[in-house]
Amino acid sequence: MKVYLAEYAGFCMGVQRAIDLAHKTAAEAESSVFVLHEIVHNKSVVRELQEKGVWSVDCVDEVEGGTLIISAHGVSPDVIDKAKGKGLRVVDTTCPLVSKIDRIVKKLAGKGYTILLLGDKDHAEVKGLKGVAPESTIVFRYEDEVAGLPEISGPVALVSQTTQNIKFFEEVVEKVKGRYPQLEVYNTICDATEKRQSSAMELGGQVDIMITVGSRNSANSKRLQEVASSVAPRAYLVDNAFELEPAWFEGVKTVGVTAGASTPDVLIQGVIDKIKKIGEELKAKA
Ligand code: SF4
Repeated sequence: MKVYLAEYAGFCMGVQRAIDLAHKTAAEAESSVFVLHEIVHNKSVVRELQEKGVWSVDCVDEVEGGTLIISAHGVSPDVIDKAKGKGLRVVDTTCPLVSKIDRIVKKLAGKGYTILLLGDKDHAEVKGLKGVAPESTIVFRYEDEVAGLPEISGPVALVSQTTQNIKFFEEVVEKVKGRYPQLEVYNTICDATEKRQSSAMELGGQVDIMITVGSRNSANSKRLQEVASSVAPRAYLVDNAFELEPAWFEGVKTVGVTAGASTPDVLIQGVIDKIKKIGEELKAKA
């Protein structure tokens, strides 16, 4: 059984930067350090920070003093104001590519645009972006929600969560243009997402089975899994090597592996090693 790794897989610039900043903050801190939500959506990364005494909290109210780290996904400006208002030291690890969308939304809202934000309503990044201009931003996720969007006579713009599926984004844009001929489109899907999705698609079309390594609450890992499923005969999403099931690989000759932007190399390598081991065991049984 041959195992191939997608050309682009695993940590992106924004995730690496956030993790480095969080570890640096933990090492230098003289008082308690907390992170709002998860620094990135990966259980193993979150656990490593906990081992250094950095615990996740769900809201600013839970923190009474010390340092609050803002995750790579960002938050709405009022959350940062609230933390600072409480006297907390704020370390902002928001990915620069998310901050770029913040600036686009702010500028458009200032010019009177209605902003349609394509994204998962409950995802931290989307909540943060909506919080930049709550009165001017409408979040929607599914193509069939387009018909239910309100009549808008003024200027309208569309932006996307950084980790959306590229093909889906293009389909939605066409549909939204049908509703609003004046639509201005900003493709804000990040380069890291785009590269991981295209290389997963390329590899997925050449193998018997695709394995995506990533946590189930990671938006970009879920999108990669969707892409892999659309081209490979079979595709599975696993958090780590322990979730691999030998039965998946019976009769399989080629396996492709991809990984979300928040998945550490050690987990990807662990999955590759385990698949090879399963392959050898199946061969020995045959
Ligand atoms: S996936 Fe894109 S937006 Fe998200 S942290 Fe990585 S580079 Fe930044």
